[in-house]
Amino acid sequence: MFNLIYIKKGIIDMPDENKSIETLSLVQDDTNSEIRSSVAKLCQDFQGEYWRNLDREQAYPTEFVQSLTDSGFLSVLIPEQYGGSGLGITSASVILEEIHHRGCNAAACHAQMYTMGTVLRHGSDEQKKSYLPEIASGKLRLQAFGVTEPTSGTDTTSLRTTATKDGDDYIINGQKIWTSRAEHSDLMLLLARTKPLSEVSKKTDGLSVFLLDMQKAKNNGLTIKPIRTMMNHSTTEVFFDNLRIPADNLIGEENKGFRYILSGMNAERILIAAECIGDAKWFTNKSTQYANDRQIFGRSIGQNQGIQFPIARAYAQMRAAELMVYHAAKLYDDGKPIGEEANTAKLLAADASWAAAEACVQTHGGFGFAEEYDVERKFREARLYQVAPISTNLILSYISEHVLGMKRSY
Ligand SMILES: Cc1cc2nc3c(=O)[nH]c(=O)nc-3n(C[C@H](O)[C@H](O)[C@H](O)COP(=O)(O)OP(=O)(O)OC[C@H]3O[C@@H](n4cnc5c(N)ncnc54)[C@H](O)[C@@H]3O)c2cc1C
Repeated sequence: MFNLIYIKKGIIDMPDENKSIETLSLVQDDTNSEIRSSVAKLCQDFQGEYWRNLDREQAYPTEFVQSLTDSGFLSVLIPEQYGGSGLGITSASVILEEIHHRGCNAAACHAQMYTMGTVLRHGSDEQKKSYLPEIASGKLRLQAFGVTEPTSGTDTTSLRTTATKDGDDYIINGQKIWTSRAEHSDLMLLLARTKPLSEVSKKTDGLSVFLLDMQKAKNNGLTIKPIRTMMNHSTTEVFFDNLRIPADNLIGEENKGFRYILSGMNAERILIAAECIGDAKWFTNKSTQYANDRQIFGRSIGQNQGIQFPIARAYAQMRAAELMVYHAAKLYDDGKPIGEEANTAKLLAADASWAAAEACVQTHGGFGFAEEYDVERKFREARLYQVAPISTNLILSYISEHVLGMKRSY
């Protein structure tokens, strides 16, 4: 505690949040440069103290999300005809990367950007007209994504939640876990089994996607329970007990939902990877400034190669991952297949941010553990991306099987 007071008096300067690491020139066109500086400006109103206070209470960053919504950053992927700005995944990645680069966290709302992609790509004209403009304006929040279940985990096609047709309705029964932002969402994209496993030839068949009105469903068969986690993430478990929803909540064709979900997951992987790049830049800024400022044994600790090298190595990892992230984003925007690139980008970016996080804590010594420095909070936040939205092992399995042609291991 003594040391913290000492720091507050300015004897050791707190690192400057606004210092930045430039992005590679390949994404620095006029639009993206303008987006980046507008996001950076917005983030100035949400400095470390804001996030620290929320973190202590595990509270939702309502003001931050509202500010992003008002500035139009969460609707960039929605076509202009539905009220968005019709930009691509590259620009969306720039936004999320910059949010994290500035020490903020987009996990509270990033799904509002991309979950609607399933409706856009596979929904009917009527569904698009009725939902997308309201999602673009922020009046409707579609940021709950109900896929993972407690018993099936990564093995998505073994999920047990069922949707049974009954006249003009479906009746939903089952449970989801880790349904993030469910308490802060009006709509949920839900994956449920509409045909029993015993009746399908492939496990990926017989699953369907629904756009569920959560406000109507609450207290009518939908129960949401928050899960406290090591970082502030607003995640929950949700229970469906004979929840009746209109049949026109079905997106696309019945029993074909798994591939709709998969197509959205590649976009999600690129965008989360961009967040990891932003985190890695934030950690690296913080590390280098502290390494230069901190005087021990009569000189800055950053003069020691033992301090420099892990920071430099993580920086190099970040730069390589950044290339892959924006390469994947460009392919996505060009409509090319991106399974390999999206997965590789997520793997490399999550590893780079974790290496930068580890170097940052080590560089800060004891202060790496002090709440006031934000390092320990960002460290907890960065750890998630080794596990979600897809774990490192499952990406390695994907590359082994689908890219390198080795036998499926499970
Ligand atoms: C904070 C948080 C937020 C989340 N938000 C959402 C959300 O909004 N919506 C949603 O649907 N899900 C969400 N998830 C779920 C997330 O996608 C899963 O946690 C993740 O996919 C891993 O699934 P699991 O936790 O069931 O792990 P499991 O599938 O039980 O796996 C446990 C470990 O075993 C490893 N493993 C499993 N099978 C194999 C194999 N064959 N080979 C090698 N290793 C294997 C995994 O890599 C993992 O490390 C969230 C999770 C967290 C923690």
